[in-house]
Amino acid sequence: MSQRKESKVSECEAPNPFVEVQKKIDAICHRMNISEGINARLRICERELIVNFPVRMDDGTLKIFTGYRIQHNDTRGPSKGGIRYHPDVTPDDARALAALMTLKAAVVNIPFGGAKGAVACDPEIMSQNELERLTRRYASEISLLIGPESDIPAPDIGTNSQIMAWIMDTYSMNKGYSVLGVVTGKPLEVGGSRGRSEATGRGCMICKRLAGKQLGINLEDANVAVQGFGKVGSVVARLLARESCKVIGISDVKGGVYNSRGLDVESLYHYSQETGSVIDFKDAENITNAELLALACDVLVPAAIENQLRGDNAASVKAKIIVEGANKPTTTEADSILIENGILIVPDILANAGGVVVSYFEWIQDLQAFFWSEQEVNQRLEEVMERAFHEVLEISQREKTDMRTAAYMLAIDRVASAMKIRGIYP
Ligand code: NAD
Repeated sequence: MSQRKESKVSECEAPNPFVEVQKKIDAICHRMNISEGINARLRICERELIVNFPVRMDDGTLKIFTGYRIQHNDTRGPSKGGIRYHPDVTPDDARALAALMTLKAAVVNIPFGGAKGAVACDPEIMSQNELERLTRRYASEISLLIGPESDIPAPDIGTNSQIMAWIMDTYSMNKGYSVLGVVTGKPLEVGGSRGRSEATGRGCMICKRLAGKQLGINLEDANVAVQGFGKVGSVVARLLARESCKVIGISDVKGGVYNSRGLDVESLYHYSQETGSVIDFKDAENITNAELLALACDVLVPAAIENQLRGDNAASVKAKIIVEGANKPTTTEADSILIENGILIVPDILANAGGVVVSYFEWIQDLQAFFWSEQEVNQRLEEVMERAFHEVLEISQREKTDMRTAAYMLAIDRVASAMKIRGIYP
């Protein structure tokens, strides 16, 4: 395999994810005879806050950062969604991710609406002190919207449990008492849930197993490739390796590594924690992200960022099953090509829903101040994921359609029914 330098997707190749989500919502509403009023409401976000705020950097200078908190739809309950720290994030990225959260919560039938937050910044080059000051100021700015009864953030790309703890602390300082339920994905010491850090990856693992059953393939020792080795990708890879799968390829933003006999995932995890990347790992060959996506394998788990499977590379995918750990990793054009090629795609709003499910469990535990064992969390997660998977599968078989379309149908039906019952639209 080549040692080519990693290249990023150019702007012109990457479609706007919000426009793609809106088009999919329109198509499903049309297919299901959903009223124009509900369709119009679902294709936009209910509330959008843009904040420009100063942060004192370690060298004494002041820098202005731009952040967002966007609520898509709260018909079924408080808004819920992660906070992303990424230099290239745009308002439309946040809108798309907020809309996907509404649909995801509805697919797994938990009582949340959808939201997303973001700050355009590069956490890789900021010190811990700078990140803490940025987070506390951003949390204050969006405290207009967030709260345990209104909108509950969680980690996403570039954020983690420490950042959630700072948000919880900032919010609580202003209230005068500890508000555990304002964010999820927190450390255990401040109201986090057992099983939350593994939940998204665990949900992907459950979907892989169910998808294998559906195709009649035994995936216990499947060959797997995982794109992204962060909070989602590293857990998926480690859980699947422990399950006896052969994880042959793993990548991050800097590039990937490959071993046809299977990577030593635990050692790779510790290596990447120490060096900041998977590349140059012993007993493996360096590959590019493009090469990773095209590896001959049974299961491909894109768990990095949007728009990785596109019209220009979808035809090279050789996996039998794609489990979308990331949000919107597949463009609409790629989706059609992959389906045409007979690949079973477990879509993002189902495959990576394990995170929001256990975030829901964390929120419940915080509100009740009563905490569950890890076994209880994992068992309940499994029940929710299995039920949702089978509901989506049943629709896809009945409607003779792909699982993404089926998942959107299930979600939009649930949100539209709630809107009708509340008397919002006929
Ligand atoms: P993270 O920041 O912990 O990890 C992201 C990983 O992707 C890193 O390894 C990074 O190097 C890699 N990456 C980033 N850009 C890349 C690129 N252009 N090419 C290849 N690799 C790239 O983020 P995360 O929390 O693991 O989130 C990953 C995806 O999963 C995102 O789409 C996120 O929205 C989605 N997601 C996360 C959760 C969660 O609980 N964290 C829940 C549901 C969905």
